[in-house]
Amino acid sequence: MRVFTYQKAATPAEAAAAALRMPGARFIAGGTNLLDLMKLEIETPAHLIDVNGLALDKVEATNDGGLRIGALVRNTALAAHATVRRDYGVLSRALLAGASAQLRNKATTAGNLLQRTRCPYFYDTNQACNKRVPGSGCSAIGGFSRPLAIVGGSDACIATHPSDMAVAMRVLDASIDTVRADGAVRTIPIADFYRLPGNTPHVETVLQPGELITGVVLPRPPGGTHMYRKVRDRASYAFALVSVAAVILPDGTGRLALGGVAPQPWRVAGAEQAMPDGAAAVARQLLAGARPTDDNAFKVTLAERTIASVLREAQAVQAKKG
Ligand SMILES: Cc1cc2nc3c(=O)[nH]c(=O)nc-3n(C[C@H](O)[C@H](O)[C@H](O)COP(=O)(O)OP(=O)(O)OC[C@H]3O[C@@H](n4cnc5c(N)ncnc54)[C@H](O)[C@@H]3O)c2cc1C
Ligand code: SF4
Repeated sequence: MRVFTYQKAATPAEAAAAALRMPGARFIAGGTNLLDLMKLEIETPAHLIDVNGLALDKVEATNDGGLRIGALVRNTALAAHATVRRDYGVLSRALLAGASAQLRNKATTAGNLLQRTRCPYFYDTNQACNKRVPGSGCSAIGGFSRPLAIVGGSDACIATHPSDMAVAMRVLDASIDTVRADGAVRTIPIADFYRLPGNTPHVETVLQPGELITGVVLPRPPGGTHMYRKVRDRASYAFALVSVAAVILPDGTGRLALGGVAPQPWRVAGAEQAMPDGAAAVARQLLAGARPTDDNAFKVTLAERTIASVLREAQAVQAKKG
């Protein structure tokens, strides 16, 4: 690990201002991703701004019946929160499908959204990787690409976004609140938050330098049956090959997003309109334009089968409820 300086921020605006002022600065929250990357010298921040003391650790009702989740709310606390369990079950389930209990105790809402890809070449500094070293090439294309993206990738990068939580937040139409170095605040719909890789896979979100996430807002609960199904190589402690987050209403309509298949949580409005026609119709639209490799073409079938199983289970749950 390289030498770095460290400060504890007293307010969100101070944290954002310090991050802009200090070249190469990074915020640190739970540290469960950033510290690993620093040990491997994939991230080499010259300065760390510890945000753990900021008053961003509450889950609160909003005036219009939604929920505001502070950036520092730990994954364990969020998954267990009574309102989240009752009204946003897909989020609670997605969180519990991620990492391990110990990691979830440390991991924060903002850190989870901004965790880096698990592409094996990103973690191997002997290999070319456009995301780690812009312009160096992509070892995954033509290499080992089993866990990587089948849709939304580019000729420069086919990495997936690894977060389970973000897939559920996408299906819940969450928005992300931020503060910038000049104290200006803004709200970014999660649909606009992540950038596709294109020619600049190292630029992953629309956040500006120094911009700090202060929280995530969920709109009013959508009702319906909430499901999160994660398919992975091991039953626990593994990232998704394919995951499905869904909110399904009694009439068979609803919302659905995929994880593990794209550089961002993958949701396509037209695909949801096909929900009453069944899983094959939904998958066809969600994965339109997919460019799988020989290694990961299985994800196309896996996604369709996982969607089918989620729709079937939602029907069974609704039949039980009467
Ligand atoms: C072995 C292992 C298995 C895992 N399995 C899964 C899994 O199955 N599913 C899953 O979803 N995740 C998994 N994870 C990832 C884990 O969920 C993330 O590491 C964690 O959520 C990151 O949160 P953190 O608070 O520790 O972030 P940190 O490591 O502190 O930060 C991550 C990034 O976010 C930035 N950041 C943090 N807070 C803010 C803020 N307020 N504003 C702006 N930027 C900020 C940091 O600068 C950094 O770039 C796994 C991790 C490990 C180590
Ligand atoms: S897929 Fe992306 S992260 Fe993986 S090696 Fe290629 S450029 Fe790097």
